[in-house]
Amino acid sequence: RPSVGILALQGDVREHVSALAAAGADPVPVRRASELDGVDGLLIPGGESTTISRLARIFDLTDPIRKRIAAGMPAYGSCAGMIMLANTVLDGRPDHEGFGGMDVVVRRNAFGRQVDSFSADVPVVGLEGEPVHAVFIRAPWVESAGADVRVLARISGGPADGRIVAARQGALLATSFHPELTGDRRIHALFVEMVREQQ
Ligand code: GLN
Repeated sequence: RPSVGILALQGDVREHVSALAAAGADPVPVRRASELDGVDGLLIPGGESTTISRLARIFDLTDPIRKRIAAGMPAYGSCAGMIMLANTVLDGRPDHEGFGGMDVVVRRNAFGRQVDSFSADVPVVGLEGEPVHAVFIRAPWVESAGADVRVLARISGGPADGRIVAARQGALLATSFHPELTGDRRIHALFVEMVREQQ
């Protein structure tokens, strides 16, 4: 089983631990650089990107994570984690410092007040069967993506019609939504598969 770290500074860490275990990985909470060294991939959970970026700096994790990502470590960011993986963030706090790696422009809190939390069924490229029941909580979206980024899912219908909510670039995966909050483990399984491919 590949060892998959979960950045455990803030956010819904516990749900991702059980989801990764169910998807065939050995989950390892990561709070310090020494814990990062042993993992084959890293999941960055949802929560609050401003807080995660501050805590990563305080715990001396920002540069080690940037370096591992640049060296090809697979990473998956959900919601705030998507914001952390983006090379460009719109509507972020001025002191936001992400890890970067994905050639995407991500808009924070993109869905606006009225619909800041909602769920929608979204078909995801590469996942067999039913669309994913996607839970969005003050979620970001991908406003634009570079040529090497593969769009995996878009919202269909409503004011956000066509907006990108899942994307992949090489060993990096990002979703606007929170797959750990449903019983569907296909997104975690996709990421575990990406980690295995890289091993
Ligand atoms: N709105 C949060 C942020 O800006 C993300 C919300 C989430 O991760 N559920 O970081």
